Amino acid sequence: MNSPAELTTALATLPAFSALDPAAVPAKIAAIVADNERGIEQMLDASGPKTWDAVCARLDNFNDRLNRAWSPVRHLHSVADNDALRAAYNEALPLIVNYGTAQMQNDRLCAAYRALLESPDFASLSAARQQVIRHAVRDFRLGGIELDSAARERFSAIQQRLNQLGTHFGDHVLDATRAWHWHTEDASRLTGLPDSLLRLAAQNAGQAGRPGWLLTLDLPCYGPAMMYAEDRALRAELYGAYCTRASEQGPDAGKFDNGALIGEMLALRHELAQLVGFANFADYSLATKMAPSAAGVIGFLRDLAARSRPHAQREFAELQRYARDQLALDALEAWDVAYASERLRQDAYAVSQEALRPYFPAPRVIAGLFAVVGRLFGIEIAKVNGIDTWHVDVEVFRIHDAEGRLRGLFYLDLFARPGKRGGAWMDECIVRRRTASGIQQPVAYLTCNFTPPVGGRPSLLTHEEVITLFHEFGHGLHHMLTLVEEAPVAGINGVAWDAVELPSQFLENWCWEREAIDLLSGHHETGERLPGIMFERLLAAKGFQAGVKMLRQIEFALFDFRLHVEYHPQIDVQQVIDDVRREVAVFLPPAWNRFQHSFSHIFGGGYAAGYYSYKWAEVLAADAYARFEDEGVFNRAVGTDFMTAILEAGGAYAAMALFHRFRGRDPQPEALLRRSGLLS
Ligand SMILES: [Zn+2]
Repeated sequence: MNSPAELTTALATLPAFSALDPAAVPAKIAAIVADNERGIEQMLDASGPKTWDAVCARLDNFNDRLNRAWSPVRHLHSVADNDALRAAYNEALPLIVNYGTAQMQNDRLCAAYRALLESPDFASLSAARQQVIRHAVRDFRLGGIELDSAARERFSAIQQRLNQLGTHFGDHVLDATRAWHWHTEDASRLTGLPDSLLRLAAQNAGQAGRPGWLLTLDLPCYGPAMMYAEDRALRAELYGAYCTRASEQGPDAGKFDNGALIGEMLALRHELAQLVGFANFADYSLATKMAPSAAGVIGFLRDLAARSRPHAQREFAELQRYARDQLALDALEAWDVAYASERLRQDAYAVSQEALRPYFPAPRVIAGLFAVVGRLFGIEIAKVNGIDTWHVDVEVFRIHDAEGRLRGLFYLDLFARPGKRGGAWMDECIVRRRTASGIQQPVAYLTCNFTPPVGGRPSLLTHEEVITLFHEFGHGLHHMLTLVEEAPVAGINGVAWDAVELPSQFLENWCWEREAIDLLSGHHETGERLPGIMFERLLAAKGFQAGVKMLRQIEFALFDFRLHVEYHPQIDVQQVIDDVRREVAVFLPPAWNRFQHSFSHIFGGGYAAGYYSYKWAEVLAADAYARFEDEGVFNRAVGTDFMTAILEAGGAYAAMALFHRFRGRDPQPEALLRRSGLLS
């Protein structure tokens, strides 16, 4: 039943943003941390059996209390930054990090969870509680808690060294990127470059105290330069510098070389994995993921590659033909590919995102989004007025389900402004759980950076921005529609890393459906829906070089994964990437290309033996969506199935089991291939 009391209770849990005093934050966080740590020790000291209620429920209470105090600070630091807040954030952050680390290294806590896992009572716990305990024991083990003291010391020394190496790797890439530039005072060499890039290049030169134009290897400069520069020698020079960054090749050969760092990182990851009982780092990485095995991941990537390859070869042949006939480029070189592709795209497929904007005013898109998820899941979303937030543009909404029950609340913060970090994301404000006083309702932050309304004109979105909004809302629904009552596995918590993008990528599909576009579009002056001809072109552009793009991602993923599976002390990294390219790529780069020396995802970020996750999640999302294609894209019964099987279940069950619940079988790649136009 629709109960106003339920909403009042939930609203009372929201943080008081305007009353948040940055100066008081570090002391407040320190007090909670100290109090929690005392409480955890007391709990472990207590005599009596270590039951769910005596240990897990109490630990979750402690952690939830800290999360709820920290979440608004973390959030404001991202969306309403100022000096006082940043100082408070930086002072309190180490307390939060150390609190988490200490918990993972707490032997007595680990013993309590392990005892529960092995106790006869375990079987009588709910599925969610069982999963919380399983995950905890797993994570204690992956953190090295089972090791004797010498091995534990080695384990943490490796972790620290790996962190350092990752930072050095990134620093080298950054230094190499900054060290090189290309300068000219001859405007004729810049023919073809768009005005925005010319302005940037002139500004670069001005900042360096030089006349003319200066091109750098920063992506906003390098990317468009490679796409638009008609001067082939310039493209070749840029490419040569970019693809040899931080290596023993190219114009800065040996200066910032990441070669030794890569070798040391691979060796240490391998040792770390073996210390805690895995054959290699790939197996260690998979311990927390949905993909079943290393062989499974490699088979998955090879199958996708083999099936995409004929299409990619045709696409590349089309590109070669076009380059020869239209651009007088007889032999396509590595530095011609982006340029020729962009020319072909514009000739044959282009639709300007700018031309689409008038059809997607933000208020219309938001109403359309709510209508789409309303039809799919039977939920009803309404604005709640008078809520304290951090900015006048921020709105608060509540979600009711088909039975009129409150399911969650969210803050919607759509527009770019000073002090707000770029990009779009969903973050947790409050996680759903059962407390002594009832259900604590989930609350999400949904953040975008769209152009704000100007004068009387509403914010107008590109189609890409509409997709971004759907993507983040998919994460939001995963967080808010959960019915799990244990925070560590509610919503996106406890969901395998390679499955967490399923709901977000899944929801994007409706941005490509005519019926949904009719709900989402309406010209801001005339109200006219997106014209059919523009929609057709949008669909055609989506399929442009889909095979080539697919293979490129598979090349990265297979290289990353094989490197970590096949590691041995004499491994030749260049040999592995050469092998992968021979197997997968439709076009081989020059032998001196050292892409891997700036592959920050796997050497400077968190994607080691996990880059395949991008494709994995895409397959899950497309395959889940295919049921809607078969049974109706607005089929409410299928929507309800998706909601109950995936969204409501969160991390309480293994991701593969949930996929089976919805699809009745293992994920299959056909739907992704078909939607990408790669199925013959
Ligand atoms: Zn995402």
